[in-house]
Amino acid sequence: MSQTFTPVESIGEFGLIDRIVDRLPDEINDDSVVCGIGDDAAVYRATENALQVITTDALIEGVHFDRSFVPLVYLGEKAIAVNASDIAAMNARPRVATVALGVPRNMSVEMVESLYDGIALACRSYGVELVGGDTSSSQALYIAVSMTGDVPDDRVVFRRGARPGEVLCVTGDLGGAFAGLKVLLDQRRGLEEMGEDFEPELDAYRYVIDRQLRPTARLDFIGVLGEFAIRPSSMIDISDGLVSEIHHICRQSDVGATLQIPSLPFHPETRAVADQFLEDVDTYALYGGEDYELLFTVSSEDASRLESAGHCAVIGTVEEADVGINAFNPETGLIPLNAAGFRHFAEAQNDDDQLRESSTPDDS
Ligand code: ADP
Ligand code: MG
Repeated sequence: MSQTFTPVESIGEFGLIDRIVDRLPDEINDDSVVCGIGDDAAVYRATENALQVITTDALIEGVHFDRSFVPLVYLGEKAIAVNASDIAAMNARPRVATVALGVPRNMSVEMVESLYDGIALACRSYGVELVGGDTSSSQALYIAVSMTGDVPDDRVVFRRGARPGEVLCVTGDLGGAFAGLKVLLDQRRGLEEMGEDFEPELDAYRYVIDRQLRPTARLDFIGVLGEFAIRPSSMIDISDGLVSEIHHICRQSDVGATLQIPSLPFHPETRAVADQFLEDVDTYALYGGEDYELLFTVSSEDASRLESAGHCAVIGTVEEADVGINAFNPETGLIPLNAAGFRHFAEAQNDDDQLRESSTPDDS
């Protein structure tokens, strides 16, 4: 046994995954594995022309959510949605899921039932069959979901595959989940400071709060891609923030990118929240995370077809690798975009980080 003690926070989540990969054999021995560690989900060949997709993601109390704050039914929905989102990011359809549950002593049977009402609701809406799981006692509530999906082999999309000359697109709008988190944290502070006298004001911000608490996997868009007969050259779901995901696509495709800041799509409520907190709404989209929209690359012709039908926004271009990863804003010109999503194992830097750490997930 090694005597060295390297704190996990010194290398971070992605560094730790790299170290784990180093312990595993270099070569995947099984020829049927098409894509192993490093994408949103792993892909293997099930039969001659059908690919199977598998992913796993956990929500853990105190890390990804604060139970006093999030209704259990929403938590159940979210546990399924974040996994279905990783399946969607491969251009696949979810099939079956299993749930490993850790139940703390202070949780009642009725609470577990509420959680499963949410799980069942989300499974129904995404067409997933819940086929098993595992239940044990634990210190904190955890919900670890594994999910499979399938995709014809001429439709599968990886993070790698983006080519210079293509464009970067996103579905839906960005930054809403972070805006919702800001509102919820603000309300919690109010509650702590004023106690019973405090009246939470949540209705005005229903959209962004739902974006935070009830994210949806964009399987509807996988249907759109099928209808339009468009297969993106690369795709990823936005769990850690747009900048972090652009870096993943660029690194794995060996390309650069130029992001057009004025093209970022926002919901009016997201703008209203940023204005209220005197913050820059662009940073909500760039670093906020948890929107669970899809970021993908396609030819500009395909992008125009999708965009004019209202299915996505074109937000930038794919460049040669030596151009780097930059953002363009008329006020600032071209500036480099550093990779920084919300980090597991990073020491909390300020009050907000700390609250975020204890109340929300950062990744799917
Ligand atoms: P996502 O945010 O899409 O869920 P992650 O950032 O969690 O992706 O993971 C990146 C990649 O690393 C994925 O391919 C995932 O399967 C793999 N991975 C993460 N943790 C581990 C682990 N403990 N052991 C092996 N592979 C892992
Ligand atoms: Mg993902």
